[in-house]
Amino acid sequence: MTKETLVKLSAELEICGKALLKIAEALRSEEKAPAPESPKKEPVPRTLTLEEVRKVAADKSRQGFTEEVRNLIHHYGADKLSSLDPEKYDAFLKDLEVMGHAGNHAVLSASSSYRWLACPPSALECARLPDVQSDFAKQGTEAHALCEYKVKKALGQKGKDPTKSLTYFDEEMAECTDAYAQFVLETLAAAKTTCKDPLVLVEQRLDFSRWVPEGFGTGDCLIVADDTLSVIDYKHGLGVLVEAEKNPQMMCYALGALELFDGICDIQKVSMTIFQPRRENVSTCTLSKEELLQWAETVLKPTAELASRGEGEYKAGDHCRFCKIRATCRKRAEYNLELAKYDFAMPFHPGRYRSGSHPGQSR
Ligand code: SF4
Repeated sequence: MTKETLVKLSAELEICGKALLKIAEALRSEEKAPAPESPKKEPVPRTLTLEEVRKVAADKSRQGFTEEVRNLIHHYGADKLSSLDPEKYDAFLKDLEVMGHAGNHAVLSASSSYRWLACPPSALECARLPDVQSDFAKQGTEAHALCEYKVKKALGQKGKDPTKSLTYFDEEMAECTDAYAQFVLETLAAAKTTCKDPLVLVEQRLDFSRWVPEGFGTGDCLIVADDTLSVIDYKHGLGVLVEAEKNPQMMCYALGALELFDGICDIQKVSMTIFQPRRENVSTCTLSKEELLQWAETVLKPTAELASRGEGEYKAGDHCRFCKIRATCRKRAEYNLELAKYDFAMPFHPGRYRSGSHPGQSR
């Protein structure tokens, strides 16, 4: 390497070194300087979607508020939910959510009749508390929406497939709702063997307020054929096996159906069926019109009147399972204590019992 080249190289190295020093200095001063504050983001208000609003509206409809939901849609200046102004979704949803609270709906629903018929004061006790829908209830509501669509489709009626908007949809729900639609078709086919043109109603609002103040509900499927009225109710639940025999919810629905058709059709008997596929349970109870009406006049009506006034006796039992105040109810606590007595047998005391006769000793 020549001397000239070495001088040139050392000059370049010097420039390079100075540049490195500048970079190091700049980095050090950046470390010392406080980090610039990132601009605060304003929380962006979440925009509700039509699907979210529709879901709550469908839940309320399932709970028996179909008419109220329709009226609310009209109140907000639309003839159907899909034409509701999205800017009004928020307010509409708030109104929907309070629908069903005390003072805004029938306290004595058919679905809770098993409880309030056994413990009349529980009706007003529960109505004072807000409704909290469990995931199981939401799953049931969605399964019902699918049932409705499948039955209507099978009957050649129009309907929108709700599958894509369902949160809890799975293969089991698909199979159960298929089975339900099939069952409705089979029941209809059986009705056609005796009646040329049976009438089928799907998701029908049923009013039994003649016996129960503001009593109404929604029947999943009704078939009227000659003198027989069939009421079919789908149950998606798995926890409790539901029997049709002496089932007050079904009897209330049957009364509502009688109100619709009696006088138009010559109905003499009512067949009430629970279709509960996840429990492989199809349970049917048939009553004559007279039996049903007698129960309505002698049991349902007087008890509903007591319940609507918050009167009658508190009575604990299986029905407490679905009571909103079960955790704090004194009557239920006393009942549980009474039951617990039987769980704890007296300790064995030699000589007190003869051999083989003390409690707890099984054969
Ligand atoms: S918990 Fe049972 S006893 Fe108490 S109010 Fe409810 S239904 Fe009646």
